[in-house]
Amino acid sequence: MVTATLTPVWEIDPGSGKPLVVHVNATATGGGVSELLRGLLRHQPAGWAVIGGNADFYAVTKYLHNLLHGQADPARLADPAMVRTYRATLAPQGEWFARRLSAGDVVVLHDPQTLGLAPAVKAAGARVVWHCHIGAEIAPERGPGAVWRAFAPELAAVDAVVTTMPGFAPPGARELFVVPPAVDPAATKNRELTADEVAAVLAGIGLTTGLTTGRASAGVTVRQDAPLPAGARVVLQVSRWDPLKDMPGVVRCVVGLPKDVHVVLAGTEPAEIPDDPEGLAVLAEVDAVLGGLPDEDRARVHLVNISLTDPERNALVVNALQRRADVVLQKSLQEGFGLTVTEAMIKGRPVVAADVGGLRLQVTDGHNGLLVDPADLAGVRAAITRLLDDPVLCRELGDRARAGALERYTMRRFAADYLKVIHRTP
Ligand code: UDP
Repeated sequence: MVTATLTPVWEIDPGSGKPLVVHVNATATGGGVSELLRGLLRHQPAGWAVIGGNADFYAVTKYLHNLLHGQADPARLADPAMVRTYRATLAPQGEWFARRLSAGDVVVLHDPQTLGLAPAVKAAGARVVWHCHIGAEIAPERGPGAVWRAFAPELAAVDAVVTTMPGFAPPGARELFVVPPAVDPAATKNRELTADEVAAVLAGIGLTTGLTTGRASAGVTVRQDAPLPAGARVVLQVSRWDPLKDMPGVVRCVVGLPKDVHVVLAGTEPAEIPDDPEGLAVLAEVDAVLGGLPDEDRARVHLVNISLTDPERNALVVNALQRRADVVLQKSLQEGFGLTVTEAMIKGRPVVAADVGGLRLQVTDGHNGLLVDPADLAGVRAAITRLLDDPVLCRELGDRARAGALERYTMRRFAADYLKVIHRTP
């Protein structure tokens, strides 16, 4: 959608007389940033709005996303049409927004999709925070440098930058805050569930009963050759259908795993996330990999597509899947942080995570999970098997994972860090 306005998600209250704090991101549901904002705004008052854009705009922003992860060709940014499309989409939204802002307000722009609003927000006298949740600790010439150069005017309007790791920040930030994300232990996504509740949720979506295979049940579509058997050991990856999450690679893992081990891939309904245009192509690739598997291996793979139209239902299903999992895998090729891993850790699940980006911030190999090279399929399988064969190790890693996540990655800590960002932004 091309629009000249922002769409409010959470009330922006200009009537209070106090300076506003307003968060702006690309999507109200789907992915880690919307998850974080939903949690944060339960802890502190602020407005929240989302930008609009059409397919051309989101193709550019997805390219920028991949570039910041070092997974795209920086030379393509030399095409002036890219930056033109980006700026033309955000300019009217910036003008509309600026008319509603006053000096002293704080606007937090999340990720590259919204950075283009910075000059208009700054011109309105508001303070501009850019929270870039993504990145990779790589040499600038592998991608980020091209973004910093192309968007130098936008970055010049930013008063403070927030990142998950120091290496993700653009050079020369006036003020830099390093604030890792967090989860809410009491939220539906993470709250304790009894074994009966888990079983009921998984039966309800058809995963263990097979009754609804291929049809949406309460917003969830399960695709599988056969239901998940009660005694199966489960390896789970929860992700958007994004190329960087390597869902096809997760399917390939099933070959060679013990025959009672099943792989569950759960992801958001791709058509529902506007800034994630590659979802359908990734699903098609997953189908192609599945089609090439021997029947007995294919029968051990279960695809779960969850609609975001009912966020509470989505959260409950993800929670139940994570609690049913014997091992939670995150085989990302790059990852800004990986809330899916935090969610698994806070539930005491043993994790196998790619040794990249924010995942290595969370997981210390052999201490609270295992780290693997995502390109080494045999190594990934070996790590999964090591955990499946050693319940004592699983318990030890899981206990430490839970304790560490409760100490470092709760929403209470995140909200306190954010207050400092708001107050200390010059
Ligand atoms: N998620 C979800 N339903 C899904 C897939 C993902 O609710 O079907 C959530 C997941 O639980 C996590 C977030 O989306 O809270 C993904 O955040 P993460 O940081 O792992 O990755 P991102 O999508 O931001 O790259």
